[in-house]
Amino acid sequence: MMPGRPKLLYADTEGRILDFPQLEMAGRSGGRWRRLQEGDWIPLPEGSELFLLPGRLPVGYSPRHKRFQALPQDPCNPGGRVQAVAAFMAPAHTQIYSAAWKNLPHAPLLPLFAYTAVGWHEGGFVAAGVRVDPDERQDHRHFDPVRIRKNASQRMKREPGNRLVQHLGHCALGYGCPAARNLFMNRWEAPLPTSPICNAQCLGCISRQDRQDLCATQERIRFVPTVEEICGVAVPHLKKAPGAVVSFGQGCEGEPLLQAGTLAESIRLMRQSTGRGTINLNSNGSLPAAVDGLCRAGLDSIRVSINSCRIPCYEAYFRPRGYAFEDLAGSLRAVKSHGGFASINYFVLPGFTDAEDEWKALRRFIQETRIDLIQLRNLNIDPDWYMEELGVARTAGGIGIRPWMERLRNEFPDLRLGYYNPCLDPEAL
Ligand code: SF4
Repeated sequence: MMPGRPKLLYADTEGRILDFPQLEMAGRSGGRWRRLQEGDWIPLPEGSELFLLPGRLPVGYSPRHKRFQALPQDPCNPGGRVQAVAAFMAPAHTQIYSAAWKNLPHAPLLPLFAYTAVGWHEGGFVAAGVRVDPDERQDHRHFDPVRIRKNASQRMKREPGNRLVQHLGHCALGYGCPAARNLFMNRWEAPLPTSPICNAQCLGCISRQDRQDLCATQERIRFVPTVEEICGVAVPHLKKAPGAVVSFGQGCEGEPLLQAGTLAESIRLMRQSTGRGTINLNSNGSLPAAVDGLCRAGLDSIRVSINSCRIPCYEAYFRPRGYAFEDLAGSLRAVKSHGGFASINYFVLPGFTDAEDEWKALRRFIQETRIDLIQLRNLNIDPDWYMEELGVARTAGGIGIRPWMERLRNEFPDLRLGYYNPCLDPEAL
């Protein structure tokens, strides 16, 4: 037994989470199980959640037998059923390893979350992850539920005619959306969802799912807000909030570029009212000409979501309708050509993201687009299903997420790695 490494966790039939000191916590990279090294784990960040994984046996590493081992039954209750355990890490953290498990026959599809390896070490939970952004805008300790409820309820009462305020009130109070909660706390980044429709059909879309066995985790907005409704939310926030950012493109909507006319008019009106803060667009980047128009109206930054810079892998996940992967680079370049700030929202899955072919394609993409920032977001999907759909089930794993980040830093010293859309206005900080 290695006293220095975290221990395996499992869940018993009652759903209690227990440690098993004979096995070390293991991680998963692609299709391979991995032993953890110093620096691969951190204390489980506050605000993270633990998940039990149905139909999956926990896998750990036995230093005695020098091999990985599945835990087939409860060591405290012989014959008792066990389940693997994973962590859904709090925002601003990126996973280094997925949880290690062994599928039982007919293991159900996992819901749309990220499943990070978790273990027990020196009296506390640890996760195989790293903090990638020091910004505290979505840290658990900043959310006081009583104040948020009070502020949101008061504003919803004050502005009954603004459907966007009502929608965001529901997001803050019903779904606990951190961006909506920050709006009602009058600070940092606030959301501006606008589009009920989309021109992609992502496997892991959280606002629309056709599969019976997969549930969308957020309700998609059902209307296109008017310019007045959008500005009613955005302008007071831009004028007063510390670190003010307003962002089109949220988890509770489709693709905002499909509402480009409304967005352009809203941005013009925002900028007639105030020059303060940052106006940002989170997007699939499908329509470069529309992005160009938004920049002319006053858009400051864009964040384009990408799971892979290899076209077949991109298409297998996003399933684009009426646009091509090349359009993403066009949208990023459009923003850069107007002097704006360009990021990608890069979905990280250990063993896939850090594979050599993926690295080469990403490197080319960065060289071609000269993006400013990569936001390292965990891919929220069942990893087995993802790799199967992308045809990479037999992946040999990657170079490791930490070495991959080092490569990015070494090769592109001016490129920022982080998690959030930055406020670009020094006067608003
Ligand atoms: S681009 Fe966004 S809204 Fe559209 S399908 Fe993908 S995740 Fe869903």
